[in-house]
Amino acid sequence: MTTGRTGRRVDARGLGAARKRRGGRHSRKKSYKAQWFSVTALAVLGTVMVAHPDAVDRRSLASEVVAGMAAPATEAPYAAPAPTPVIAPTQKFTTPLRPAPTLTRPPKEAKPNYSVSSGKLAVVPGSDKATGVRDKLTYRVEIEQGLSVNGPAVAAIIHTTLTDSRGWQAIHPVNFERTDNVDADLRIILATPTLTDKLCLPLDTGGEVSCRVEDRVVLNAKRWMYAVPAYSGNIALYRSYLVNHEVGHALGHGHSTCSKAKTPAPVMMQQTKGLGGCLPNAWPTVKAT
Ligand SMILES: [Zn+2]
Repeated sequence: MTTGRTGRRVDARGLGAARKRRGGRHSRKKSYKAQWFSVTALAVLGTVMVAHPDAVDRRSLASEVVAGMAAPATEAPYAAPAPTPVIAPTQKFTTPLRPAPTLTRPPKEAKPNYSVSSGKLAVVPGSDKATGVRDKLTYRVEIEQGLSVNGPAVAAIIHTTLTDSRGWQAIHPVNFERTDNVDADLRIILATPTLTDKLCLPLDTGGEVSCRVEDRVVLNAKRWMYAVPAYSGNIALYRSYLVNHEVGHALGHGHSTCSKAKTPAPVMMQQTKGLGGCLPNAWPTVKAT
């Protein structure tokens, strides 16, 4: 009995213990299952992490860190960098601080500029001798500084025009001679419209036309560079007209008009303002017939 009771007790205990054990086994079974799930989940997570690029990067970074730690430390301990001293500017820059562009082909030729007036004249150095033995009429050429023109080339055009066989030398008993002396009889000046207006006072050139005042023959650079529509395509002829017309005033000639359509316009006609039906003409000896 005892045994039996005991056995029962035992059994009972055993049953209870067995239940507990079963329960324990059951609990352990649950625990194994949970562990299995945990291991499986970790394996899946690990697979995902390895497959993920970031995870690969982290692994690489970790490898580098390990490699870096393995390398001998030769650098000095970290020290805070000294503050950079602020240097006050010693000059003002008027152009942007950027590198000059690299040119891979020649730049286009800039359009002649007449708009910026320096107000300062420069004499073209040198001389062009008179081609005859009559009284010399000397002139010097002055060009406003800053104009995009070639001084000697301008002087050459003026001298070629004044000594042309169709020019004033065929009418007046003079020979033109270019000089750079201050005592020249005439000053032939190429100037911006702004300076032209000043030099032509009291005449009103309105920034558009040229003039002759006293010993000054003032050629408006705007006209010299771009002529007028009536002379379109023949700027060389217009320049000769401009020189002969204004020098004609210096020789005492006044204005004339177009008397017959489709004949050469008189050189003393104000051709810059229009041809009145006449044809462009730069020469005093070329007249309507
Ligand atoms: Zn005139």
